[in-house]
Amino acid sequence: MPNARKFSNALPVSAREIYRILKNNAQQMITYAVREGRLPHLKIHFMKCTDCEKRAVCYDHRDYFDPLIVEPVCHSCNLLRGTAKKTFDKIALTPVKRILLNL
Ligand SMILES: [Zn+2]
Repeated sequence: MPNARKFSNALPVSAREIYRILKNNAQQMITYAVREGRLPHLKIHFMKCTDCEKRAVCYDHRDYFDPLIVEPVCHSCNLLRGTAKKTFDKIALTPVKRILLNL
């Protein structure tokens, strides 16, 4: 049973790994939304940064559990905002983490 073996090798998953998967998924969804024209392409369309008046260069997530909720930000504001901390808090609270970590 190759599938059962694959799943048993995949566990336990650390909270950091859950965060990484959620982040990758959220970034891919935004890339897809831009490609589909549902979000403006920031290299083509001028948008102001949400936090300052500079040109936005990327979309910032505050929570990777809501992958389509983003704000356009400039590079320096994106660095100032840091990681999507809400995601860390939710991973800490969710029972899925306990199941995955066998707690
Ligand atoms: Zn800014």
